[in-house]
Amino acid sequence: MSKHVKREIDNGLSVLAQSIIDENSLDYINIEEIVFVKYLKDIKSGDVLGRCCLLGDRTQFLSDKKFMIEFPPEYYKLTSDQQRRVMHHELLHIHPKGDRLVDHDIQEFLEIAEKYDGLDLYKKIKLLKQEWNNGKEGKKIKRGKIKVEDGDDNE
Ligand SMILES: [Zn+2]
Repeated sequence: MSKHVKREIDNGLSVLAQSIIDENSLDYINIEEIVFVKYLKDIKSGDVLGRCCLLGDRTQFLSDKKFMIEFPPEYYKLTSDQQRRVMHHELLHIHPKGDRLVDHDIQEFLEIAEKYDGLDLYKKIKLLKQEWNNGKEGKKIKRGKIKVEDGDDNE
């Protein structure tokens, strides 16, 4: 028996991923370059509900895939809204340049906090992130469609 974690490819998840790509104009993501994988057994993942990996050179060459997004069994027990949110989160780990991953130093990407939790939480996280980075993150925060002026609750 192999010591490797048992996995299987879950092509069904590409439907969900594509709808998130379309809805959020993540046009730089090519679904054909992603392999979605379900773990069949629990992994030591802590509280992680998904993981996005950039495949190595050789694996990319052999598989025609660039990224692997993996989900533990817990993911499949989530509500469909939660599954959507986790998938969205994992997709945002794909860098627009397509050859690297986007890291994050807080729990959630700001876009997702804004989209799923509303502006209030988004603003809290924004402030937190600004503190965290000593105000150097202005450029990053404005990434994407979100623009929030302090003290403005519109939109
Ligand atoms: Zn993440």
